[in-house]
Formats: sequence, C-alpha cells, structure tokens
Amino acid sequence: MAIGLPGNIWGRRKPPVEFYLCECPKCGFSQDYEVTSGEVIQIEPPAPDDPITVLQLPEKCPKCGAKWRKRKMPSGFIQ
Ligand SMILES: [Zn+2]
Repeated sequence: MAIGLPGNIWGRRKPPVEFYLCECPKCGFSQDYEVTSGEVIQIEPPAPDDPITVLQLPEKCPKCGAKWRKRKMPSGFIQ
C-alpha cells in the first residue's frame, strides 16, 4: 500500500497528448503512440489497434531496431 498512485486516474482531465503513427521501413511493424507529459495511465494492455501511451516516443522499432518513420497526427485525431 506504500506505492502512490498517480493522482489523476479518475475524474480529471488527461494532460495534453501528442499522437504519432510509427512505421518501420525495414520490417513493416507499425505502432501508434500517445505521448503525454503527464502520468502514464495504462490500466490494461492496449488492444492491437490502440495507441500505447508513453512519456517518450521510442526512436527505434522494438522488433528490429531500425529507425522508424514517425508521423504526427493533428490533435483531436482520436476523437
Ligand atoms: Zn522493424
């Protein structure tokens, strides 16, 4: 019980997020990311098509390590 939970899980506004589509030119793996400056709140593993919430966008493909293509989506894209 000593571990503090982030204070903004329930009932508060999410901090601003940026949304990126990442695609690996080498192996074809793609993943969407939400980058937030606040707490990372990921209660359940995301569905395959859902973005993963991170504090920092990974620079490389987690599958093969190649540098991947990032496309920033306009805010409000998810809605
Ligand atoms: Zn790759």
